[in-house]
Amino acid sequence: MSTAPISREDAAAGFRGAFGGAPDLVARAPGRVNLIGEHTDYNDGLVLPAAVSLATFAAGRRLPAPVLRLASREFPGVVEVPLAARRPRGDWTDYVTGTARAMAARGLAVAGAELWFASEIPPGAGLSSSAALEIAAGLGLLRLAGDARPLPALSWDLILAGQAGEREWVGANCGFMDQASAVLARAGAALLLDCRSRETEYIPLPAEAVLAVCHTGVRHELATSAYNQRRRECEAAVAGLAAHLPGLRSLRDVNPEMLERYGGEIDPVVARRARHVVTENARVPAACAALRTGDWPRLRAVFAASHASLRDDYEVSCPELDAMVEAAAAAPGFLAGRMTGGGFGGCTVNLVAADLAPAFAAAVTADYQARMHRRARVFLLATAGSATIEP
Ligand code: ADP
Ligand code: MG
Repeated sequence: MSTAPISREDAAAGFRGAFGGAPDLVARAPGRVNLIGEHTDYNDGLVLPAAVSLATFAAGRRLPAPVLRLASREFPGVVEVPLAARRPRGDWTDYVTGTARAMAARGLAVAGAELWFASEIPPGAGLSSSAALEIAAGLGLLRLAGDARPLPALSWDLILAGQAGEREWVGANCGFMDQASAVLARAGAALLLDCRSRETEYIPLPAEAVLAVCHTGVRHELATSAYNQRRRECEAAVAGLAAHLPGLRSLRDVNPEMLERYGGEIDPVVARRARHVVTENARVPAACAALRTGDWPRLRAVFAASHASLRDDYEVSCPELDAMVEAAAAAPGFLAGRMTGGGFGGCTVNLVAADLAPAFAAAVTADYQARMHRRARVFLLATAGSATIEP
């Protein structure tokens, strides 16, 4: 898979190659990077993703029969799945059929269709190619079935259908941040999302900065088991603290003073996990305030504190992520940076002065190579708007 730009014409040509003839439409959905608010989503907390200028495209044509015929530039063959399929296939098409099933279950219109996909988003890098696939497919299917309501009227049905498809059909225990970003994003801004109330707010990103996402080139085996273990530890923290704080439902209800007072009463490891979540929730509004005023020293400190908390309290960083953060901090144009995503590999996210971005990328790549004897991949990205039907 390459990050080279894909045009509407490319998508139509790919469709023609797979199915013959022209598609009825081409849908597009962006990937995302989370700026701050890590491991807070499943604790009812705050997150701050930004949609990025890499997207997944879905070229589609309606079929009279209730089947999906699915093809992807990234995988060989055409897969035919009945809309009433009883079980997942165990391949990439599950993201699409899972979303279609969940849409129908939510009362959204779904019709048979041929869909051809291609993506600019490197898969498994933490830029959420999976949610982009779900939302491009979901939006395309809705429009093919004749639902012409404007996106804001459909947003949460589409978001929750994509999430449900991934949870129920693919078996990934994900939150809804990635799908929400793909559906609700605005160019030039990050999306402040409250995972409890689903309230959103747009935080403009200063125009002098670009996003630099630096891929460590590793993804340690530990990632999935540690993720599940952290979720259990957060539940244990709630259960332990609830003995002192009756009515406590999630770590979102815990503030630093409460933790100071009762943290000593629970298991020390669990207390540190809780401290990460509680302090991270407080860092999200602090980062928003710094972004609003273009206060880079403040943002740098908040991002650094987030990274340290993920490394020391939540223990989900790794030597490669720490080295990448250190390499970035020493590179020209660096404004703020930290690890992003679940951890144990994947990427760091950085804000970088736009005019120095190429020098930043070169310096980080050389420094990371010297430290870890590995090749970094640096993606210089602009923010993007929400999923669309391409004109
Ligand atoms: P991430 O969302 O971080 O990129 P995931 O593991 O959640 O990583 O999702 C990656 C998976 O999504 C791929 O292995 C593939 O199954 C599916 N996928 C993503 N993009 C495409 C595409 N363009 N065509 C087919 N499948 C895709
Ligand atoms: Mg994913």
